[in-house]
Amino acid sequence: MAVATQPFYEKTDEQKAILEMVRQFVDEQILPQAEHYDAADEFPAPIVDQMKELGLFGVTIPEEHGGMGLDLTTYTMIVEELSRGWISISGVVNTHFIGSYLLMKFGTEEQKERLLPRMATGEIRAAFSLSEPELGSDVQAIKTSAVKRDDAYEINGQKMWVTNGLMSGVVFVLAKTDRDASPPYKGMTCFVCEKEPGASENTGEHAGLTVPPKIKKMGYKGVESTELIFDGYSCPAGMILGGEEVGLGKGFVQMMDALEVGRVNVAARGVGIAQRALELGLRYSQERKAFGKPIARHQAIQFKLADMATKVEAARLLTLKAARMKDAGERSDLEAGMAKLFASEIGKEVVEDSFRIHGGYGYSKEYEIERLYRDAPLLLIGEGTSEIQRMVIGKKLLERHKI
Ligand SMILES: Cc1cc2nc3c(=O)[nH]c(=O)nc-3n(C[C@H](O)[C@H](O)[C@H](O)COP(=O)(O)OP(=O)(O)OC[C@H]3O[C@@H](n4cnc5c(N)ncnc54)[C@H](O)[C@@H]3O)c2cc1C
Repeated sequence: MAVATQPFYEKTDEQKAILEMVRQFVDEQILPQAEHYDAADEFPAPIVDQMKELGLFGVTIPEEHGGMGLDLTTYTMIVEELSRGWISISGVVNTHFIGSYLLMKFGTEEQKERLLPRMATGEIRAAFSLSEPELGSDVQAIKTSAVKRDDAYEINGQKMWVTNGLMSGVVFVLAKTDRDASPPYKGMTCFVCEKEPGASENTGEHAGLTVPPKIKKMGYKGVESTELIFDGYSCPAGMILGGEEVGLGKGFVQMMDALEVGRVNVAARGVGIAQRALELGLRYSQERKAFGKPIARHQAIQFKLADMATKVEAARLLTLKAARMKDAGERSDLEAGMAKLFASEIGKEVVEDSFRIHGGYGYSKEYEIERLYRDAPLLLIGEGTSEIQRMVIGKKLLERHKI
């Protein structure tokens, strides 16, 4: 079987060239500027413009729609590199990637032609909206509703924690179309809601959608997280994902499918932030002296570095395995859950170990590790908490090993 025997680190010439380009971009453009944008909590527009030029918004979009047509494995490698620079930058592309996946897998030809070419260039960016003020893990409890009026659906309700909620031009929104459906997930539909990028009050054909001021956060700054208020917003029936006939009542299943690739993507972000924390720990421990020698020469610090590097390698392998299985068309729900669980947990642990190695300076804003310390916990929450991953892994394990 290709997946089991393929060397995980083997890269094609194309992957090597792209990753070299992304690494250079991260070292020259993201790392030197992240501190500024983080401190100001400002959207990194010039960096995002350069990402558009590099084609990073179209990595997985097919060439016929203007993208690069690359696989999940390559995308995962790119996300690790971007997250090594700053996880907020990977946040700018993450929901966009999920939106592209939804369109590519479930969209009608008309929907693909309408949106994918502009998404491939980054002219419009996508957001993904399940969570509401009263729920995140329990998606089937959503209250946002959509009711048919002539040839459109009127959406009402409040969404929460929408990454790229303000600057996006299209949001994939899960809403209830049948309150009496049993089980409830059969009464949920994904609406492809277009909006005006950057407008807090949408008007004209997008009237009825308001974006309140961005939520103030501990970390993960620069990329906005917002609520979305739908109050009589009208979405044409033709913009139900997959078309009304096929897509009505299928939203939950479609979005859970997208979360599976989203989990591999979050795992790659965990690897990237852990890799950077390891690099910072390795450097600082050789510079800082205590008791007459660099702290790296004290065995306790070496053991810490050894554990950190081992965790990073293990998380990278799990992540690449999940991505390669998905690309090979194999079932990878279990592996995606494992990768997300492990990489996000070790992301936080490795960052904390590096923070400890930095001593008091780790607590200072002068040092990059302070930002990583505030950024890493998000990965434990987004795309399903660690508890939810364990529920997915446990369920899938029992399914695969049923006696
Ligand atoms: C910065 C940020 C960006 C985000 N971006 C997006 C986005 O773009 N789109 C979007 O839709 N959402 C987004 N989210 C929301 C995110 O997906 C949810 O926060 C997450 O799914 C958890 O939901 P919750 O916060 O409502 O926690 P809850 O579901 O209320 O859970 C609270 C706690 O209870 C635990 N728990 C819940 N159920 C169980 C159970 N059955 N068994 C054991 N433990 C359980 C959870 O693990 C957690 O520890 C974002 C969140 C953040 C913080």
